[in-house]
Amino acid sequence: MTHRVVVIGAGFAGLQVVLGLRGAGCQITLVDQRNHHLFQPLLYQVATTLLATSDIAWPIRALMRERRDVTTLLATVEGVDRAAREVILRGGARLPYDTLVIATGARHAYFGKDAWEADAPCPAYQFWTI
Ligand SMILES: Cc1cc2nc3c(=O)[nH]c(=O)nc-3n(C[C@H](O)[C@H](O)[C@H](O)COP(=O)(O)OP(=O)(O)OC[C@H]3O[C@@H](n4cnc5c(N)ncnc54)[C@H](O)[C@@H]3O)c2cc1C
Repeated sequence: MTHRVVVIGAGFAGLQVVLGLRGAGCQITLVDQRNHHLFQPLLYQVATTLLATSDIAWPIRALMRERRDVTTLLATVEGVDRAAREVILRGGARLPYDTLVIATGARHAYFGKDAWEADAPCPAYQFWTI
């Protein structure tokens, strides 16, 4: 059976993994809770209207359109069943894997000023305990 790789997160890290697996002969599923990759370093330019939103947010399926070995999936991951080697999606569906890559980004810090988070540009990502 073809080796199944599930990559959670289509940020810089997740995309880099998928690019590196080109030609490896794996069956890759790239899961993200958003339908687009967000180029975070240019958020400032969007906030100040130097760039349009569409300049820094690209549909993941478009980035992967030439990769027949990659399936993109819009879903939120809520957990991992390591014993069963399955990713648990919101709603209860399960995604089996042979190799799992968790590339869900980082939590932001507000240096004790947690009230600032609501006004910050990036949504808080969801975390779970494995
Ligand atoms: C304003 C700003 C400016 C920056 N400037 C620079 C810079 O100049 N140079 C630099 O090197 N870095 C910069 N960075 C940092 C850089 O953008 C990050 O280090 C980088 O984006 C992290 O990549 P990542 O793949 O780890 O995570 P992310 O890019 O955050 O990707 C994580 C992905 O995982 C998905 N995800 C998370 N949780 C789940 C879940 N439960 N289920 C499904 N999907 C999920 C998210 O939707 C997201 O697409 C900047 C960041 C910001 C916010």
